[in-house]
Amino acid sequence: MNIILLGPPGAGKGTQARLIENSRGLVQLSTGDMLRAAVAAGSEVGLKAKAVMEAGGLVSDEIVIGIISDRIDEPDCQNGFILDGFPRTLPQAAALEDLLASKNKSLNAVIEMRVDDEKLVERITGRFTCGDCGEGYHDTFRTPKEEGKCDNCGSSNFKRRADDNEETLRTRLLSYYKETSPLIGYYFAKDNLASIDGMADMSEVTNQIETILASA
Ligand code: ADP
Ligand code: AMP
Repeated sequence: MNIILLGPPGAGKGTQARLIENSRGLVQLSTGDMLRAAVAAGSEVGLKAKAVMEAGGLVSDEIVIGIISDRIDEPDCQNGFILDGFPRTLPQAAALEDLLASKNKSLNAVIEMRVDDEKLVERITGRFTCGDCGEGYHDTFRTPKEEGKCDNCGSSNFKRRADDNEETLRTRLLSYYKETSPLIGYYFAKDNLASIDGMADMSEVTNQIETILASA
């Protein structure tokens, strides 16, 4: 099963992708995570992407399509994957369709996660993750059970993203509304879209996604 989680920054795509990954044996493919790894490694892609990401803009279609194309060929993706943060533009969506067709794969569902803009600001400015295992947290909505210690791996190495500030978020939201939100209409017209209430509690959001996947 291959699915897309579609929504603005802070909608809960990464949180839910990690949960479905475990429950369904799918692989989370986050282009944001892949690009951050490329930046950290100082690779050619990372050098090209760094300044754009810091400013909250979109990395070129050519770069992200190349990353995804290589990644979905890997053995762990053959059972299915969850695209988180890709596609983000209409050309990326078209390229994905061609890629999947050329590999005899298809999309089972595109799930749009709807969250109010004010809530996105609150979610993004309070977000942090475990630097060792990637578990996601929030200052208010999901704090570690034991302060300063990751629930999942026990690490104290927490990180906050440099672009998770209110000013950069506004640019990221502009990119979302200008470039990415047209994909909602695009997938609706292709009869592939399901929309859910991303404002609900995390477990309720998971239930809504599981219901869609059960009939996908
Ligand atoms: P995205 O991957 O879409 O950018 P995340 O999954 O990283 O978003 O979620 C952004 C922040 O909001 C994180 O700190 C996460 O813990 C929190 N969060 C995610 N889903 C919910 C929810 N349903 N209710 C409250 N907080 C949430
Ligand atoms: P994310 O982790 O999804 O919030 O992505 C972080 C940043 O990576 C974005 O603000 C973009 O600069 C870049 N990025 C991630 N995915 C894409 C994509 N599909 N297309 C263009 N840029 C992307």
